[in-house]
Amino acid sequence: MPSKLMKHILFAASECTPFIKTGGLADVIGSLPEALQQSGETEVSVILPLYHGMPETYRKELTHCADLVVPVGWRNQEAILHTMSRNGVTYYFIDQSFYFGRQSAYGYFDDGERYVFFSRAVIEALPHIEGRDIDILHAHDWQTGLAVAFTRILRPDIKTVFTIHNIQYQGWMTHDAFGDLMNLGPEHFPGFEWKNMINCMKAAVFHADKITTVSPSYAEEIKQPYYGEGLDPLLNERAMDLTGIINGIDTDEYNPMKDPYLYSPFKTSRAKKKQNKTALQKDLCLPVDPEVPVYAAISRLVDQKGFHLLERILEEFLQENVQFILLGTGDYQFEQSFAYLAHRYPNKMAAVLKFSEADARRIYAASDFFIMPSKFEPCGLSQLIALQYKSIPIVRETGGLRDTVQPYDETSGEGNGFSFANYNAHELLYTMRYSLLVYHREELWKPLIQNVNRSRFSWKDSAELYNGLYRELAVT
Ligand code: ADP
Repeated sequence: MPSKLMKHILFAASECTPFIKTGGLADVIGSLPEALQQSGETEVSVILPLYHGMPETYRKELTHCADLVVPVGWRNQEAILHTMSRNGVTYYFIDQSFYFGRQSAYGYFDDGERYVFFSRAVIEALPHIEGRDIDILHAHDWQTGLAVAFTRILRPDIKTVFTIHNIQYQGWMTHDAFGDLMNLGPEHFPGFEWKNMINCMKAAVFHADKITTVSPSYAEEIKQPYYGEGLDPLLNERAMDLTGIINGIDTDEYNPMKDPYLYSPFKTSRAKKKQNKTALQKDLCLPVDPEVPVYAAISRLVDQKGFHLLERILEEFLQENVQFILLGTGDYQFEQSFAYLAHRYPNKMAAVLKFSEADARRIYAASDFFIMPSKFEPCGLSQLIALQYKSIPIVRETGGLRDTVQPYDETSGEGNGFSFANYNAHELLYTMRYSLLVYHREELWKPLIQNVNRSRFSWKDSAELYNGLYRELAVT
C-alpha cells in the first residue's frame, strides 16, 4: 500500500518495452518507473497507446478500466482505457483502433492527429487512474508533448515534467490544426505555434514546469543553434528549468549472464565471449575465427547515427583483418550501400537489415567493438548495452556518448572506450585503426577491458535525480 507521503507520477509515452519498441525511448519507459518505485518515494503509473502490434501475451493480461469520450476538434472519439500490472508498476492503455490499430507505431500521414488524440485522451483518463490522485504528469518526447500543454491548461492542479529524448522529432502540423483539433480558445495559440506551424515539442517546452533531457552534455548542446533544431531560443529562455539527467539501463534485463538469447552466457570470460563470436559467425556465414576482431553497429540507419562517416571509410577498414556486422533498418540509401558492401566482402561483413531483439543481443555479445559515430546523440543506450556485453564502444564525443564513454588513455590506463571529436570520416577511421592496435597488444587491452568490466550504468543515481526534481515541484 503506497504511503500518503509518496508522490504519484503518471508517465505518458508512445512506446515502452516489452509492449512496443522502436528505439531507446521504449527502454527508458520500460525501466525507469521500476527504478523510481524502488526508492520508496514515488509511485509511478504509465499510460500508452494500445498498438495493434502489441504481443498477444500482454494483450490478454489487460482488464477493462473505463470507457472514454475524447474530444478531437468537432468530433468525439470513443476509446477504451485498459489496465494491467507488471513488476509493481500499473500500466494504462488507450485503445482506439482508428488511430492505433496499425502495424507500426509511427510513419503515418496523420501522426500529428493521432498524438493530439492520445495527449487529450491522457487528460480524459486522469479521473480513472486508480489509487491516489496524480501529482505530476511526466511526458516524454513530442508524441506526448501536448499532454503537458493540455494538463497545464485544463488541469492546473497537476504539475508537469517534459523529457526531450530527441529534439530532432518535434511533431509539426500546419497552423490550422490548432482550430481543427485542439478544442482550446485562441488565447492559447501562441503557446503551440512555432514558425507559423503547430509544434508539439515547442508546446511542451513552453508549458512544462520542468524540462529535462537525457544527458548533461545534450542539455548544454540543445541550447546552441547547431543542435537545437530551431528550439534553442526557447530553451535558452527556459534554461533555469532545464536539466540533463543521464539514462540508465535495466541491468537485469541486459545481463550477459542471464540473457536467454545468447549462445553462451558469460560474465567477464573472454573464452565464453569467443564462443558467442564463433556461433554468430557460423549463423551469418562469416569465416569462423575466434581471434579476428569483430566490429558491430546496431542502430536505426539514419543520418543522426553517423552512417555517412561509416559509409565513407568502411571499405578501406575492411582491408584489415577484421569482420564487421551491421544490424539495422532505416533509410533506403544506407540499407543499399551496406548491403552492397556485405555482398562485395562476404568473408568480412554481414548486413542484417531488420529489427530483431534476439539478433541484437547476440551481436552485442559476439562483438569486440561497437561503433556509434553519431552526429548528435541525446544519450544513447546502445553504447551502454555494448559495455554490459563487453563490446568496446567507439563513439563521437557528443551528448550522452561524451558523458558515458571515456576515451582510453594508454599512459594512465584510464578509459572504457574510444572516441573522436569532429564529425569527420577519417577521424573515425583512425580511431578504429587505433582500437585494432590496442586489441592486438595484450598489455594495452587488459587495463581497457578491466575498465569496461567496472563500468556501471544502472538507474539508481539517475532515479535519485528525478526524485529530487519531483520533490522540488511538490514544494512550489
Ligand atoms: P535511439 O533511441 O536513438 O534509436 P539508442 O541507442 O538510445 O538510440 O537506443 C536504441 C535501442 O534500439 C537499443 O536498445 C538498440 O539495441 C535497439 N535497436 C536499434 N536498432 C535495432 C535493430 N535493428 N534490432 C534490434 N534492436 C535495435
